Amino acid sequence: MEAKSDVLIIGGGLAGLTCAIHLSKFGLKVTLIEKNEFPKHKVCGEYISNEVIPYLNYLAIDVSLLKPSKITDLEFSNPKGKIISAKLHLGGFGISRYELDYYLFEKAKELGCKIIQDTVSETHFKENEFNIITTSSLSFKSKIVIGAFGKRSNLDQKLERDFIFKKSAWLAVKSHYSGVFPNNLVGLHNFEGGYCGVSKVENDKINICYLANFETFKKYKNIEEFQYEVVSKNPNLKAVFDRSTLLFEKPLTISQISFEKKSAVENHILMIGDTAGLIHPLCGNGMAMAIHSAKIASELILDFLDNKIESRNKLEEKYTQFWKANFKTRLAMGRFLSRILVHEKLSAFFMQLLIIFPFILAFIIKKTHGKPLIIKS
Ligand SMILES: Cc1cc2nc3c(=O)[nH]c(=O)nc-3n(C[C@H](O)[C@H](O)[C@H](O)COP(=O)(O)OP(=O)(O)OC[C@H]3O[C@@H](n4cnc5c(N)ncnc54)[C@H](O)[C@@H]3O)c2cc1C
Repeated sequence: MEAKSDVLIIGGGLAGLTCAIHLSKFGLKVTLIEKNEFPKHKVCGEYISNEVIPYLNYLAIDVSLLKPSKITDLEFSNPKGKIISAKLHLGGFGISRYELDYYLFEKAKELGCKIIQDTVSETHFKENEFNIITTSSLSFKSKIVIGAFGKRSNLDQKLERDFIFKKSAWLAVKSHYSGVFPNNLVGLHNFEGGYCGVSKVENDKINICYLANFETFKKYKNIEEFQYEVVSKNPNLKAVFDRSTLLFEKPLTISQISFEKKSAVENHILMIGDTAGLIHPLCGNGMAMAIHSAKIASELILDFLDNKIESRNKLEEKYTQFWKANFKTRLAMGRFLSRILVHEKLSAFFMQLLIIFPFILAFIIKKTHGKPLIIKS
């Protein structure tokens, strides 16, 4: 028996859940399929820019209930430990994905969204309708499908997306720690072949999350050795590790992280969040972009179903256009900065530049973040 909905969302991360909440709030019949169960820890720096707050308020998502840390300052250091500081012009908050995604999951269910734990294995579009199939052989029909399946998924292979066939050199490691670290600070510390973010989340826990080049990482036996021999060569990171105690049984890891360009619409599926493009984590803006892209997609879908957008082609055209207008420059800036940071000489030159012209750091923060999200009246 086939279930039918107005909108089917593949993936229940930040982007998918926000979209589910927005569309359910407007009375649409929404189904969301997520392969994992909630709650679950995710590899992420867990710092979110305050630019999303007006929109979250509009959706009645009150993150203050989760007691996040309030982050106002950024500290950036080179591999030798030389520090440059800057104010975050909008500020942000620190909250674990374990708590945040679970809260959004509960909120979406409350609003009537149907959430199914399963893995989508096939998507078909025929006669203006989607047919979605899962690995448990369930089948769903829907007018609209949103791709919110993150940075890398079985569906990228199925859809033969270009980026999936290219090798990716990045892996990431994340863990929570107890220890001493300022509540209002996000530290971004460079080490050979990577960089590491440190900030507080709820309940006084410290999140340490780093991105590393696989070529550098593979020379070491395991994470502990890599952390000791490479990451901790930055004295600021050594100090944090020395004063902290691991709260996870072992750190979470992911590999094959790709920052290649992706398409915002694929086989008529509107892609949101990382599925449409992953910004380098050093920008600390991926979550805000995931939430923002959910807003853009939701508003356009509501207009389309209300016949304010005359055709599916126009919907797809508009979504692509809005997506590029909002995120293309940020993504390009992230790629540019990352190239500098992992290059020893360029990185040293960049640091000198920041020391002489500290306003450049504030400029970069502005260029890698968005403005507070305006609500469409
Ligand atoms: C190392 C690192 C550090 C980061 N730090 C920060 C930071 O500090 N601040 C910030 O703003 N951003 C950060 N980001 C980026 C941020 O984590 C992402 O941009 C954000 O998680 C995107 O959310 P999403 O909903 O698009 O994807 P996800 O949260 O990954 O959700 C995708 C979901 O889809 C599900 N899924 C996949 N395939 C299927 C399928 N076939 N069927 C059903 N479900 C499926 C997955 O299980 C997953 O739950 C970081 C990223 C990395 C890699």
